[in-house]
Amino acid sequence: MRVMCVHAHFDDYEFTCAGTFELLKRRHGDALRARVVVCTDGAAGHHFRTRAETAAMRLREQEESARRGGYEFRQLRYPDGSIPREACLAVSTPLLAALWREIRDFAPDYLFCPPVAAGPLAGIHVDHETVGQAVRRVAYMVNVPHAFTPEYPADETRSQRCPVPVIINAYDHYLKGDLRHDLAVDIDAAFDRVAELSYCHRSQIEEWLPWVSSPIPFVAPTDLADWSRLLRARLLGHLGRSGLPAERVFELFCVTSWGAVPTTARLLADLPGVDAAASNLEALRRRLGERHPTDATGQVRRP
Ligand SMILES: [Zn+2]
Repeated sequence: MRVMCVHAHFDDYEFTCAGTFELLKRRHGDALRARVVVCTDGAAGHHFRTRAETAAMRLREQEESARRGGYEFRQLRYPDGSIPREACLAVSTPLLAALWREIRDFAPDYLFCPPVAAGPLAGIHVDHETVGQAVRRVAYMVNVPHAFTPEYPADETRSQRCPVPVIINAYDHYLKGDLRHDLAVDIDAAFDRVAELSYCHRSQIEEWLPWVSSPIPFVAPTDLADWSRLLRARLLGHLGRSGLPAERVFELFCVTSWGAVPTTARLLADLPGVDAAASNLEALRRRLGERHPTDATGQVRRP
């Protein structure tokens, strides 16, 4: 099993997918390969550190999270070797080419990325929105081996197939007014790990987020135990506003048809911790064109 998270910023993985990846790691052990790709340089998000200092600090924080979390981390580079700038990521041929190569190199079974806003009234973060749009645009090209050989020259007479992964959208709180989910993964068992990994991002949770956040104030933690308590309360608050039972911590996902289209049964078999009651499985089944409903274990219930 290979899973990949492609997201905009250092720390987005920890706040959207880390619990689910940890559950997968516990199920598969060394048979799981997990890779996180961060698509921007991390230079912009601070108020008293210079851009260069912030970028270097955030890179070190992500490397520490990867070491503790046991996942592979890569920073996206354009074909010319430069790193995309935070705060102004745009869908461009170099971005599509870079993502194409990352996805083909790793050949994930599942790719997690941010969603694309469905309506003009939804809020967005420009970098999240761009990564979502870019993954969507490049998805079909993953198995088109000559799509970006101008950027990455290869022997065009010998091509390798690369199966397109199942592409799943992570939850994105920036989409205020346009939040939705198909799958709710109960990550309570992995919550301590999520707290530990997100606590690596000190320049964010102790400095930047308390300065920038509104209207819900972001309280700076004093230590890991304090952070764990604050993070749980914050996540439960988000879930409560999304109509979910605010007792257990979930990560929420939408299943796209951008790449391979899975069955609900395959999703339930492959992804641990999906809580059927907190998910919207019937709507998902209808959207995936399934004729027969499946029960919570993924077994088809024939009429
Ligand atoms: Zn982000």
